[in-house]
Amino acid sequence: MGRAGSAVATPQRGGLAPPGYSSLDGEVPLLHAPRLEAKARDVQGYLAEGYTTLVGILSVEPPETVALLVPDEDWRDSPRENARPYPPGLPYFTRSVRPPALVLPEGLSPVFRPRTAATLPLAVWHELAHAFLLVREVVRTPAWLGEFVPQAASAAIARRSGFSLEDHLSRIEQKPGFTVRDFRGPAGARDQMSFQNLLLLLGAAALKEFGEGFLNRLFHALWEEDGIVDGERAEDLLAGALGPGGREWLASRAEF
Ligand SMILES: [Zn+2]
Repeated sequence: MGRAGSAVATPQRGGLAPPGYSSLDGEVPLLHAPRLEAKARDVQGYLAEGYTTLVGILSVEPPETVALLVPDEDWRDSPRENARPYPPGLPYFTRSVRPPALVLPEGLSPVFRPRTAATLPLAVWHELAHAFLLVREVVRTPAWLGEFVPQAASAAIARRSGFSLEDHLSRIEQKPGFTVRDFRGPAGARDQMSFQNLLLLLGAAALKEFGEGFLNRLFHALWEEDGIVDGERAEDLLAGALGPGGREWLASRAEF
């Protein structure tokens, strides 16, 4: 298939992607192997949607970031923090390159569940939200709060773009045997997914109950925090961002 529109060869981003990758312009430029052109167009659409929404919700200077759509054969050569390649099929955000990059696999790992029309866009938005959060330095937080942020942000992007999550959310196992607060790593891939899915349910429910303003407050609260955030402080931050009734509402949620 021929290249259309803004697709050009990209020697200027040497080091980020193997030679020969094509580039799609956008607020988040997307580099992809030429054979992944069709998928790259879809991903580009999700990135544009996510970027616009997050800028709108967060009122913050957006991150300078690029995305790489990587075929299986190049996965080992993708930029990353560690020497060893990451497990295939798991998207991630890395600051090991300039500008920082969202690294997206050609196909999501089978651990991504449920599989619906929302699975890929949610995964893309999740990593994009990490990029937005790391526009400023963020102190350490419990894993549940650190991952709640991108999960709730993904749900907010879906909501604003009129992308229904109903089918996706209805397929999530609601009682995996732990709550987000008592989930402990290291865990297997299945439990990790259940953990993320609980956070997605919690995020979607919070948006329904409180509207998206809490996300803006939560991002800003995390940026302003300068000590280590322990479990208790994390709950305070989230309850405070949710606003009046937030603490009681959290206590009433099975996921929490
Ligand atoms: Zn994450």
